[in-house]
Amino acid sequence: MSNYQKPLPVIQPHSAAFWEGTRQHKLMIQHCRDCDSNIFYPRKHCPECWSENLDWIESSGKAKVFSFSVTYEGLEPMFQQDLPIILAWVDLPEGVRMCTNLLNCDPDEIEIGMEVDVVFQQATEDITIPYFTPSSPVV
Ligand SMILES: [Zn+2]
Repeated sequence: MSNYQKPLPVIQPHSAAFWEGTRQHKLMIQHCRDCDSNIFYPRKHCPECWSENLDWIESSGKAKVFSFSVTYEGLEPMFQQDLPIILAWVDLPEGVRMCTNLLNCDPDEIEIGMEVDVVFQQATEDITIPYFTPSSPVV
């Protein structure tokens, strides 16, 4: 696992619970105890009411594609093996939107609103990265 060559996130105190969750194959999102907002990406304060009274909830990991873009060429060498890369925004039922990559997905079959599920790939001993994949194979 230590030969992972792509950029990695830097775990911060306010994001540590998120990355601990991904190591356990759980997609954790922040929840504001004061205004009831769900929050992604992890922050020190609620973006709605500026409260620091934040907690964590586990997302269902089921999302729908809000938008996407497919890259077929022109990336750094470290990403060449992954082409085509599908960059997508996905909406979770908890009311947050995540930027992610779609895996195991034919670029010609993606549709806005397509249902996708979270999957986890271990990059290093400390970092497991969440991605999304189609919920059911596209016929
Ligand atoms: Zn709040």
